[in-house]
Parts: sequence; structure tokens; C-alpha cells
Amino acid sequence: RWEVSRELRKSFFEFFKSKNHEILKSASVIPAENDSSLLFTNAGMNQFKPLILSSSEPKRVANIQKCIRAGGKHNDLDDVGKDLHHQTFFEMMGNWSFNDAFSKQEACQFAWDYLVKTLSIDSDRLYVSYFGGIERLGLPEDRECREIWKRIGIPSDRILPFVAENFWEMGSAGPCGPCTEIHYDRIGGRNASSLVNIDDSVVEIWNIVFMSNIRDSSGHIHNLGKNHIDTGMGFERLLSVVQNRNSNFDTDAFTPILDKITSLTKNKLKYNGTLSSREDAVFRLVADHVRAATVAISDGAIPDGTGSGFIVRKMMRRSFLQGNSKLGIERFGLSDLVPVVISTMVPFLVRITSDKEVYPEIEKSSNEIIKTFKDEETQFWKTVDKAKKMFDGVANENKSPVISGRKAFNLFETHGLPLSVTVEMARNIGKEVDEKEFERCQLEAQKLSQKASQLKLPVSASDFPTHTDNDKYSYTYKNGRYGKSISFTL
Ligand code: ATP
Ligand code: MG
Ligand code: MG
Ligand code: MG
Repeated sequence: RWEVSRELRKSFFEFFKSKNHEILKSASVIPAENDSSLLFTNAGMNQFKPLILSSSEPKRVANIQKCIRAGGKHNDLDDVGKDLHHQTFFEMMGNWSFNDAFSKQEACQFAWDYLVKTLSIDSDRLYVSYFGGIERLGLPEDRECREIWKRIGIPSDRILPFVAENFWEMGSAGPCGPCTEIHYDRIGGRNASSLVNIDDSVVEIWNIVFMSNIRDSSGHIHNLGKNHIDTGMGFERLLSVVQNRNSNFDTDAFTPILDKITSLTKNKLKYNGTLSSREDAVFRLVADHVRAATVAISDGAIPDGTGSGFIVRKMMRRSFLQGNSKLGIERFGLSDLVPVVISTMVPFLVRITSDKEVYPEIEKSSNEIIKTFKDEETQFWKTVDKAKKMFDGVANENKSPVISGRKAFNLFETHGLPLSVTVEMARNIGKEVDEKEFERCQLEAQKLSQKASQLKLPVSASDFPTHTDNDKYSYTYKNGRYGKSISFTL
């Protein structure tokens, strides 16, 4: 049953080895401490940022990188479950040219040959997009790229200029550049121009970024002065194409997990793979979140109150709550999912050199991950049970369909009831929570507590102002350093 996945990984490594790439291991999903610009590794290129910025040596590299997109510039947390091709955790197959190790033409040709020649994907199902230019920022249309695709033999009507989507950035600052993407039409026989932003039947599979720019912290884009190429392709998306499925969730990467969820539900509910079914969406969400948390914990994340730990906690708690209330999974059932998640990754171990396996760390920390799940769940249900009583009191105070944000905030502050749980419980009785007001209350409370702590610091408060960035994080000075946290609540 694992054959297709394993072969896919292997063929990717072999293809790029034959093109003189060095095959490297995935970096951790938790970024190095010195890179405060990210909560999680969100792309294959993250670990190469220093190389991109400082090296001058030409180098070809390929790998498959564990990625989590659940915060910051690339945040798919709220989309997961709602479509068929976004997860928070996914694997990104990528190859790189540092310092002109290969040309734009070669980058596109490699990608095309791998898909069409090596994997025999029907080229009539593929179309490409390239950067259409943003005049306002002085960024020209990438005509060179359009010509490259023509030379490769793509019919002109399958080469489309995209604007915002085809200028790739890792974060709010850092290396960036125009890109070109390969998209796959899951249905086929349709005109490319009618497929733009159509629906789930078309997916972007490969992104090739011509990394020749850098955005500074004030938002200005400059020339990097070097030419690097950074490519990334979603492993689960490619797998769905190769396995001829309509969704990432119908592949080897997910089917065993979804089957196990069925066995954990009280009424043995089945996953039907429907986009519009709320129940199926919860299946996808639970499968994804448990999988993401498993990987994050195996890389050292600990569910807690700030930074990446906060997101891991959020994903775990969401899966406990949704799994229990929507699918009827017994409390503590989800820790049984962890070994299955691990089994979907471990049999794929492909030795990438004689001594390096792909993800040995995940299997090694299996017991620790299960324990973390159980501990987190114990704490979670304790909180929920205690707060449930308080919630009932608040919810039944009046007939209004809206529960005030201030009351929800009190439940959070006094009883530790996360906003997401309050929202969920409210939904179950046909009410909603004023989340905006909740956020305002939280901000107020943050300001108050800062004032209190600043009084104790032997420095002026203005030396350590709290600041936020566009990506909804706030940076608060505490215990001698700035800590990053989400400035809104779940
Ligand atoms: P999308 O537009 O579908 O959100 P993206 O443009 O944000 O994708 P890139 O940053 O270009 O994605 O990442 C490279 C590749 O990684 C994508 O072409 C896609 O195949 C894959 N990918 C990106 N996000 C996800 C995700 N959340 N789940 C699964 N695969 C993903
Ligand atoms: Mg995206
Ligand atoms: Mg895209
Ligand atoms: Mg893209």
C-alpha cells in the first residue's frame, strides 16, 4: 500500500541526482532560534536563507522538506478542512540553484521533464503561470519566462500571466522574487484560461521562484545582486495527481489516518471525501492537525502559550474538541492516532545517502508524542469541564443570540476557557460570540499587564515598546527578551 508514496520520493531524488543535485535532509519544522521571522518552517528554502544571502558559490541541491503553514505570511490554518488540497503540515519537494548553478530555462525544463517524462503526467492537464509584473513596485513582467515555456513546447494559451500569486515571498521581509507555477487540471479537456481560480478541480502543484530580490524591513524591494532559483512542490498534491485522486486526503498519506479516525468514532462514521460535507471537513481537520502536531512535537515543539507552541496547542485542542463534539471520538482517543500518523511516514523511509534516512526523528519520539497528547488532553478537558458550568451560566443569562466578548474574555482569563471552545459551545446552542470585543478586551489586558511589569524594570518603558507586525503577531518584552505571540485569540 505504501509503494506509490515511496516510489514517488525515490523518483524525485533520483531525477535530481541525475541532474547533479546534492540530496539533503529536511530541516526541523521548528526554525532555528536565531530566525525570529518565522514560527514554523514554511518552505524548503528556509534552511537555505543564509546561503541565499551570503554565498557566492554555485550549488545544486534538492530535498523534501517538512513544512507547517499555520502562522505568519503563509497561514493555511483556517483553510484546512475547508478544501481538498491545503494542510497545515505538508511536505515540500524542492530543488535549488544557488548562484547561477543552473539557468531559468533549465529550472523549467527540469520540472517539466520530471512531471511529463519521469511521472508520465498528461501534459494536456498542465498549464503554467508566470509573473505579469507590478508597475507600481518597479517589477517588470517576466517575458523571459513566458518565452522559456514556449520553447519547452507549452501552447501559448496554456501560459498565463499572474500578478500577486506569482511574486513569492517567504515572510514580510527577506529574499523574494517573481515565480512561475505549474497547475494541474484534475478534470481535463478544458481551456486553460477558464481554469483560473476556478475551484478545487485545479491545483497548483509546483512553484519555481526566481529569487533575485530582497524585501527590507521597511517594505522596499531591492535587487539581491545574485540569481538563485528556489522551487517547491507539494508532495501530497503530487501524490494525488499520480494516484489519480481528486484530493490530497484520498492518498496514501491520509487514508490510513482517516480510516483510523473512523474506528475511533462512536458510530463508525465514514470519511466520504466530499468537499461540502461539514463532517468530512472535520475528518480532514482532525487528520491534519494531529499529523501536524505529531511532526511538530517530534521536532521539539511543546504545546504552550506562545509562539509555535501556542499554535501546536491550538491545533491539538481543536482536534480534541472537534473530534469529540462533531465525530463522537471518545476523550483520549486521538492519542491512538499518533502511531498511525507515524506509520504513514515511517514506511516511506528512503535512504537518501547510505546513512541518512528521511524522518528517523518521528519514529524515535513516538512515545513522547503520545504522552504529550495525553497530558495536553487531560489539561484541556479539565479546563473545559470546569468552564462549561461557567459558560452555561453566561449563555443562559439572556435570550440574545450574541454572547458578549467581555464575558467570553472573563471565561478565558478566570477559567482558562479558550475562545475557540467558547465559540464552539456557543455554536452548539445556536449562539455566537462577539470575537472582536474579545480581542479588544485581551489587548486592554495586555497593555495593563505590561504597565505593571514595566514598573519593576530598571529601565524606561519606552525602551521596550510592544509592537505588532502585519502578520498579527505582537512582540512583548518579558524576562529580558522579546517574546512573540499571537495578538488575536482563537
Ligand atoms: P496555494 O496557492 O495553493 O496556497 P502557495 O502558492 O501558497 O499554494 P507555495 O508557497 O508556492 O504555495 O509553495 C509551493 C508548493 O507547495 C505549492 O505549489 C503547493 O504544491 C504546495 N503547498 C503550498 N501550501 C500547501 C498546503 N497548505 N498544503 C499542501 N501543499 C501545499
Ligand atoms: Mg498558499
Ligand atoms: Mg499559489
Ligand atoms: Mg505558489
